[in-house]
Amino acid sequence: MWGRRKHARRSVAAVPELCDLCGRTFPPEEAVCGHVADSSAMNPDDPLHDGLRRVTACCEAHLEAVRAAYRERPFVQEELWAGKIGRVLTSGRPVLTMTELACRTGLDEPDIRRAIAWHNERRRHLDG
Ligand SMILES: [Zn+2]
Repeated sequence: MWGRRKHARRSVAAVPELCDLCGRTFPPEEAVCGHVADSSAMNPDDPLHDGLRRVTACCEAHLEAVRAAYRERPFVQEELWAGKIGRVLTSGRPVLTMTELACRTGLDEPDIRRAIAWHNERRRHLDG
């Protein structure tokens, strides 16, 4: 399904949108879009909106169903922070100090420690 996006058609406007619920593709002008709170959503181009995921659906009913599914998912603040930290650690200059990490993530040091603890705890669960 995702493969479609890689092959540019001759017409510029031909890249179809994809429904997040049923997977149907449709022209962009028919898309019903919204945003949902999702602590795993990272927006590299727009860090202020980390935690907000853009969702696309083929109709209002499907958009509402996608929204309902995300409402069921807990929003974990630490997951959001861990995402920001991970992005900083894996891009650009190496981070040498906690102060620099705080500066580049926009987080306070206690938040960073909580996020790292959450991340390690989850890793233990996944490994065990
Ligand atoms: Zn749909």
